[in-house]
Amino acid sequence: MKNEAQKEESVSKESPSPTFERINRQTETYMQGILQGNIPDLSRAITLIESSHPKHKEQARALIHALLPYSGKSIRIGITGVPGVGKSTFIERLGTLLTGKSHKVAVLAVDPSSSISKGSILGDKTRMPGLIRNPSVYVRPSPSGDNPGGVNRKTRETIILCEAAGYDVILIETVGVGQSETAVHAMTDFFLLLKLAGAGDELQGIKRGIVEMADAIVINKADGDNLQAARLARSIFQQALHVFPLKSAGWSPPVLTASAMHNEGIEEVWQVITDFVQKMKQSGEWDKKRMEQDTYWLHENLRSMLWNRFYSHPEVKKELEKQLELIKNKKITPYDAADKLIGIISEK
Ligand code: GDP
Repeated sequence: MKNEAQKEESVSKESPSPTFERINRQTETYMQGILQGNIPDLSRAITLIESSHPKHKEQARALIHALLPYSGKSIRIGITGVPGVGKSTFIERLGTLLTGKSHKVAVLAVDPSSSISKGSILGDKTRMPGLIRNPSVYVRPSPSGDNPGGVNRKTRETIILCEAAGYDVILIETVGVGQSETAVHAMTDFFLLLKLAGAGDELQGIKRGIVEMADAIVINKADGDNLQAARLARSIFQQALHVFPLKSAGWSPPVLTASAMHNEGIEEVWQVITDFVQKMKQSGEWDKKRMEQDTYWLHENLRSMLWNRFYSHPEVKKELEKQLELIKNKKITPYDAADKLIGIISEK
């Protein structure tokens, strides 16, 4: 006769654990729901991705894995600019234009302030009242309370889920703060920079890295008394852009003017984006860029995983103090100390 421990072992060998079964059943439900464009299922699945609970993480990973083959078919557009430039007004107009053309639009946000202030200023549903009521639009505020690496991963996984749910244009909003712009640039096909005229920073802006990332620049608020200044800013930017090497052989970033408030120039911006998509797909650069982005994120993930593994290792923590002391007393060089420390997590 089997004792209790043996019985348990034979049960666990024959059938998966109850937890595992539950994960599978629920994953299957979410998966089917998302593929049918069910919004509550999509929202619950994104919440799962955002959770740091180990069980949720496991379930989220299974879901992403299952939906990966259904992803990738959207146009991913990054939209950036300083607070007040008109991002949410612009997104509201662009989103409405696109649903009028039978597109399904998801609006996501990468908000560098949310982890610090816990109060998100982007992707806030009250900022886009027209889109919230639009059944062809899904708006998701930025994930908060996490490190930038976590936010970036969650946003990239959310893109996958939204694509699987049939959203064919993904708009990702971020503010003009270095790291989050770089991240959004590295997860989108087209990067749009919104600027203001007459803010006195035209040429300063040109020097900054962000302009180099842009696939198009839109001078917003080109209306009323600001119209002339906007046109002037446009030509200054357009001339200045000539000094930058082209990001792609087939594309030189145009500068446009728009008035999100008066719904002017939005159609032209969309025309530029569709031209870009067509050119990049024809030349094969579209797929190449997506592959480069996946490669970039693979290395980013490796870097942060190794970093965490290293600094959370108890032996490393102890040895680090010792090595610092040795460096201070000129007994060892920082290079040799690093070499010794890295040996702790390397396979022997
Ligand atoms: P965000 O912080 O970049 O999202 O900017 P908002 O979309 O919230 O816009 C900031 C302010 O500028 C709001 O009061 C808008 O009504 C206003 N605004 C946005 N677009 C335009 C525009 O094209 N022209 C004018 N005159 N005002 C605008």
